[in-house]
Amino acid sequence: MISLRFKKLKIRENSITISRRIIQILAFLIINYIILEAILPINLLSLEGFSKVLPILNSPRNPLSKGGGILEYIFFSMAEGVFPFFLIAVLLLVLLFSNRFFCGWICPIGSIQDACAAIPTKKKKFKIQTHKTLLNIKYVFIIITIIIIFPLGITKNANILFYIDFKAQLGTFADQPIGFFSLSEFIFVYFPNLVQNIFLPAQFGALDFGGYLILFFYLSIIVLSVWYPRIYCRYICPFAAVSSAVSEYSFLKLARNPVKCVGRSECGICEDVCPKQIRILDEPFDFFTGKGECNLCLECKEKCPYDAIDIKFGSV
Ligand code: SF4
Ligand code: SF4
Repeated sequence: MISLRFKKLKIRENSITISRRIIQILAFLIINYIILEAILPINLLSLEGFSKVLPILNSPRNPLSKGGGILEYIFFSMAEGVFPFFLIAVLLLVLLFSNRFFCGWICPIGSIQDACAAIPTKKKKFKIQTHKTLLNIKYVFIIITIIIIFPLGITKNANILFYIDFKAQLGTFADQPIGFFSLSEFIFVYFPNLVQNIFLPAQFGALDFGGYLILFFYLSIIVLSVWYPRIYCRYICPFAAVSSAVSEYSFLKLARNPVKCVGRSECGICEDVCPKQIRILDEPFDFFTGKGECNLCLECKEKCPYDAIDIKFGSV
């Protein structure tokens, strides 16, 4: 009887995490719905259009999903000389109304990193200054991509011969600008192809220096996410770069109750459990987004012993 009551208490205490895990697993299966078609006698082809506008960094070449991520389509359209007003509007609306809920609860790459972080090890944090510097990496990647891809699209309409030449020089980067910075592309496209090729020594041996570099880089990221949760989301993800820039303006945010919160010296649990290494207690009480890094996983809210963290919706 006591053990049953204890279990119920534990479930209630962890209800946010349990709900999040269930949603993450369902989202993983729905976004990569071909997995469901493989294991169940159903046809989910009608989801194809839906998955194409989900703001997820799937590559259009992803063998597990016929859809590509919204950011991928935005850059792909730009490279083709079409300014994607509609897709940008959809992305902005999603971010304004749900902030980075997608990152915390739906993104399959986030879920994979959470699964790695669930391996019981002592979690590590970077020094504050190192962490702040590393956060800029993703902005550098996205700015470089815009600087190259936007002019490419303009040349298509201005000088088609120049465009063809420019595009040829850029190679694969012009066809899938986000792919190089995408862990999704690595996990769902690059790595499965590589594993297949291991059994074809001639092709595996043909992997160039860049290929080995990509392999080493992303495998390191996956391994590091066991000790540094969400390391890819924090420092590399192009979707994170775009969404964190909009996050401060979102209607959905977290706030800290100044009456209930006892502060860092007496508690600080929220900062200890935050997988994004956000200095929650340095942020204003009214709302906090960790400079756009908060993915609304709500671990801080769940673990706060004083129930001092609230979800806010509306302008601040
Ligand atoms: S866990 Fe709650 S009470 Fe403790 S410092 Fe964080 S917000 Fe304040
Ligand atoms: S601040 Fe809270 S909700 Fe945001 S990422 Fe950190 S733990 Fe999750």
